[in-house]
Parts: sequence; structure tokens; C-alpha cells
Amino acid sequence: MNRLIQSLQTPFGLSLSRREFLRDVAGLTLGSTLMGASPFLRGEAVRKKRKVIVITFGGGARDQETFAPEGQENIPHLLHELIPQSSFFSHVTNRGILGHYVATASLATGVYETLNNFAAVPPQHPTVFEYFRRDLKRPANDAWVVAPSNGFNRIGESDCRSYGAGALVILPKHLLAAARPGGVNLDHLLRDNYENPLYTPQLGGGEFELQQLDRILRLSVEDFAAHARTLSSPDELSVYIAIRLMQQEAPSLLWITMHDIDVAHSGAYSLYIEGIRRTDRLCAEMWRAVQDNPEYAGNTTMFILPDFGRDADYDTGGNGFQHHRTGDAASRTTWMMALGAGVRPGVIYDDPVQSIDLVPSLGAILGFSPAQSEGKPVRELL
Ligand SMILES: [Zn+2]
Repeated sequence: MNRLIQSLQTPFGLSLSRREFLRDVAGLTLGSTLMGASPFLRGEAVRKKRKVIVITFGGGARDQETFAPEGQENIPHLLHELIPQSSFFSHVTNRGILGHYVATASLATGVYETLNNFAAVPPQHPTVFEYFRRDLKRPANDAWVVAPSNGFNRIGESDCRSYGAGALVILPKHLLAAARPGGVNLDHLLRDNYENPLYTPQLGGGEFELQQLDRILRLSVEDFAAHARTLSSPDELSVYIAIRLMQQEAPSLLWITMHDIDVAHSGAYSLYIEGIRRTDRLCAEMWRAVQDNPEYAGNTTMFILPDFGRDADYDTGGNGFQHHRTGDAASRTTWMMALGAGVRPGVIYDDPVQSIDLVPSLGAILGFSPAQSEGKPVRELL
């Protein structure tokens, strides 16, 4: 085994390799060598206008298909448009359960949740949306989740005592099922849960979804159906809905969960790569939508981070890119980028942080207290 592969078997090796790659390719500066005051603007007036968008680069991608020399062709938008504007954290560890719903719930609560990944249950701890709304007295339409998978419909709020008022969740596939555009096969937009075909929650799609289309997104069934016919994947549908939400509701806290990359479970490497390239493009599309929207331009901080990675090729317990079962360094060591308002651009930080540190960091930025989170604020974002 050569030394490079050996080094990629450890979290520090992975982080170091990401760091060096980004210094070379995107010209990032190493954060620990920088001094200077925090760029974050404080004060109530600024906080009231501040908006945060979180995108999970979802489904799990490995470095050799992304932040490594052989992967760079798959993420041109991240590398050349977004990362030069970002603070990039090269060493983020997920110590929780590597299932998409439970991992995303953990990102949203700041606690490693232990709920059943394949059940329609709420997170066991208060979500970021509940802290945000309760502490800052925000209305229901100020926090939204756009989620790809039918199994994510409970992610907006917990059952926790004295919390429970969280985010409105929009499930684009339910909207599509409700609109039922006839004449064209849109099954590719309704694909769900690549990992466990036995768990296929019933697709909703009734009066509630039609009302969301009409009253919130201000889309006619005809216009929505016509646009859906131009889209190639569920994540494209999610981004279309998210941008529409930004135009109609302008939520201050918007969370979008991507999932296309998880098609890797099918074993088709080409579809996995296609998913990464699409997610890369969609992240840039979201950032452009921020710049084009006066409610968001200039006062938005956007976070992009995976829920977790995927298995390395060398682990005999796994099947390489196809799954995320081994819990090896490649599947647990991820990254996070933050860009926009209050973020130092073009800097890379390699101090270890954890997935559960996101919520306390958002709390510090937006001014709420995530009392039950077990993470801690990332100091470079304060
Ligand atoms: Zn998966």
C-alpha cells in the first residue's frame, strides 16, 4: 500500500490532503496563520436581517471524487466559484449513525440522534428551527426545510417539552404527486430512498400539498407541472422549490437537503459521479439565487456540508463508493464550507470540528441558545 493511500485511512490524513489540495487548486490561505478581528457584524439590527441557508451536500461523496486531484473535475463550481469566497473547514467528523435521516436530524439538533433511520419519527432533541423560533420569537414561515425524501417529513420539529414549534417542511415530491402532471413520465423525479427499497413511505400528495403550491409558492398546477418536465432529478426539483420559497416567503432560516448522490447504492459509478456534478452545480445555483434576491443579497451566510462520506475502497468490510457501512475514516471525515455575510473568504481551517457543532455555531451567529446541543460553536465563525 502506498503512503498516500495509507494517509487517507486516517481522519488527519484526509483533512491534510484536502487542505493541501485546496491550497494548490483554489489558492486558499491556511486560517491558523491569520490574525485579525472577526468579520462578523454584531448588533440587533444586523441580526434581524441576517439570513442563513444550510445545504447538505447530501448522500455522501468521497474525496477521490471531490476534494482530491482526481476528483476536482466533478466539483468545478465549488472549487472555482464558491470556495474562493468561503471559509473551508477541512476536518469535520461525524461520530453518529451513518444513515441519511438520522444524520441529517443530528446536524439539525446538534446531538447525535439515535432514532430509527427508516421510520417517520421526529428528532429526539429540539431542532435548530425550534431554538431559532422560540428564542427569537420568529413566525412559522421564517424557517423552512426543503427535503428530498419522503422519510424526512418529521425533521422540522421535535416532540420536546417547551419546544415543538419548528420549521415548515416542504417535500417537493409530494407536491409533484399532488399535481399529477399527466402525459409525461416523471418517475425519475419521484425516486426515493436509494438505500432501503423496503422502506418506501407512502407518497402524500393531496389537498395540503395543492394548497402549498397555490398559497405559498404561488404556482399553478399547470406551471409547476410544465417546469417539472424540464428537470432531471429530485435535487433539481428541490432547488427549484427552494428558490421559489425564497422569492415568496424569504425565510431567514432555510435548510435544503440534497440526496441525488446516494444513487451510488445502486452500484452505478457513473450515476454517482453525475449526482456529485449536479449537486456541485446546484450549490452554485443557490448562491446565485441569493445574489439575485434583494432580501438575501449581502446579508446571507450559506453553509454547505455533507451528512457524511462513503466507504473507502481499501476497507474489506465495505464495497467502496457504493455504501456507507464501515464507519471508516472516509465515511466519517467530512468538510464544511461557509460563505457570505460575516465569513472570512479564502481561508481553510484544519482544526477538528464535529457535525454537531453546526447548530451551536448557527446559534452564535443568529443569537439563539441551543440549550440541549452537545456540540460547541466553531470559533472561526464567531
Ligand atoms: Zn445512502
